[in-house]
Amino acid sequence: MAIPGGCQCGAIRYELSGPPDRVSICHCRDCQLSAGAPMFSWALMPTDRLTVTEGAPATYRSSRDAVRSFCPVCGTGLFYTNPAMMPGRIDLQSVTLDDPSAFAPVNRVQTAEQPIWMAHFDALPVHRRFPGTD
Ligand SMILES: [Zn+2]
Ligand SMILES: [Zn+2]
Repeated sequence: MAIPGGCQCGAIRYELSGPPDRVSICHCRDCQLSAGAPMFSWALMPTDRLTVTEGAPATYRSSRDAVRSFCPVCGTGLFYTNPAMMPGRIDLQSVTLDDPSAFAPVNRVQTAEQPIWMAHFDALPVHRRFPGTD
């Protein structure tokens, strides 16, 4: 059963032929700068489990061995490969799946590089929408 996903504008579509092996939240500095956000949710799987079915992602080298892919139209980040660190495997930004809740993260990694305030993330007030409207 194919598991579909894609970027925000629809130019890039992809399918997984099966579930990822593991989903992890990454807080490393490279991910922060790539996302412009404090974390990424990565779904790790064998490279051949993922097929791009529409469009052609753009790529850039984000460190010596790592290549990140994104939609050249809307900028949504999509994939990460690092043959030196994880040969034959690819990371997918799991919330780009059509069902962003499909596969839950099992851990958080690289917290040594997270902003200090992330340590208090769980203590922040939570609003279903915005303060004063919920
Ligand atoms: Zn796009
Ligand atoms: Zn990272």
